[in-house]
Amino acid sequence: MQISKRLQQLNPSATIAMTEKARELKAQGKDVISLSIGEPDFDTPDFIKQAANKAMEEGYNSYSPVPGYLDLREAICEKFKRDNDLTYSPNQIVVSTGAKHSIYNVFQTILNPGDEVIIPAPYWVSYVDMAQLAGGVSKIINTTIENDFKITPEQLEKAIGEKTKAFIFSSPCNPSGSVYTRQELEALAEVFAKHKEVIILSDEIYEHICYGQRPVSIASIESVYDQTVTINGLSKSFAMTGWRIGYLGAPEAIAKGVSKLQGQITSGTNCIAQRAAITACKANPKEIQFMVDAFSKRRDLVLKMVAEIPGFKCNEPKGAFYLFPDVSACLGKTYQGVEVKDSDDLAMYLLEKANVATVGGVSFGSPGCLRISYATSEDKLIEAFARIKAALS
Ligand code: PMP
Ligand code: GLU
Repeated sequence: MQISKRLQQLNPSATIAMTEKARELKAQGKDVISLSIGEPDFDTPDFIKQAANKAMEEGYNSYSPVPGYLDLREAICEKFKRDNDLTYSPNQIVVSTGAKHSIYNVFQTILNPGDEVIIPAPYWVSYVDMAQLAGGVSKIINTTIENDFKITPEQLEKAIGEKTKAFIFSSPCNPSGSVYTRQELEALAEVFAKHKEVIILSDEIYEHICYGQRPVSIASIESVYDQTVTINGLSKSFAMTGWRIGYLGAPEAIAKGVSKLQGQITSGTNCIAQRAAITACKANPKEIQFMVDAFSKRRDLVLKMVAEIPGFKCNEPKGAFYLFPDVSACLGKTYQGVEVKDSDDLAMYLLEKANVATVGGVSFGSPGCLRISYATSEDKLIEAFARIKAALS
């Protein structure tokens, strides 16, 4: 049985692949510490679970409207206004099965074969493959650790060409943790505003997980509001990864396209999760501050520990829950006759030798860096870093 050429060309998600590998090893009895997947280790807050229970009791069992319940879309509009200074109407909102699904839907909606999508590296692993599935071609802008893994307006201007249709980035960034300031976004917006044909996909899934200045939504800069799709979801902020709720705010034509696509593919997403999402969107962000405080403490801890590993060089993440050290000083060495060429090889080495699962940087567009998730307990982090240090020495 042959699978389609389209799928043969698709790479498996590196984050998911490493997480599954770690799970398998654990099932075999190995004491693996997984710092691979980006998933809060907290339970979903009780008040959200109660909202889901109530929805079940009230008999929410049927298909929902394809773009999501109207009162959920209204709650999302309120949330966008409250947290992001963004004005959307419910017909500009589509709720999907996770932010991953929202991004996929947008690419399917806007890309024609051969259209270029500009992606700053390092990028979240799924952007390139999702663009490719929609016929798009990725054009990567490389960044440096010295520039905190951010692009400059000059780089952006140079990358935009005749075929450019879209640009996608995350701030806070998975994997680098970098957060663009308002000033930096304004400088990029100035470039975009000269190229109104370029659609900006702003992935803001880590919005609430930040350790200083709150991230700014690029769509709140007036000159680019009408060319931006703002993507968000509940997975990270509310520890609801398995509930699968993502959403977007977009120009109406794009929202309509996404909804048409969804009507043929998934229909409206899970109705119980949608009802609970209303409660989450209306909640005061202070309700989740305890998780952000814990991530902040862990960030300080892992930053201290990573500085003690010879050969690892790290920026200071301002958001999300990942470290993305440059490990190139550890590459090019040989272990049991096998060369550790890139950080994917190093991740495999650390898994075998230290029983610590991380994710190599190749799929993030940075083969010299390694992604380490610190969304786990301090005890496990301390043990994992001690193991990594020992394995590398
Ligand atoms: N964007 C980024 C940058 C992510 O790290 C993730 C992973 N959770 C997603 C989007 C997708 O999130 P979800 O589908 O769980 O909403
Ligand atoms: N986004 C998370 C990560 O980067 C979850 C896994 C995934 O969907 O890729 O680890």
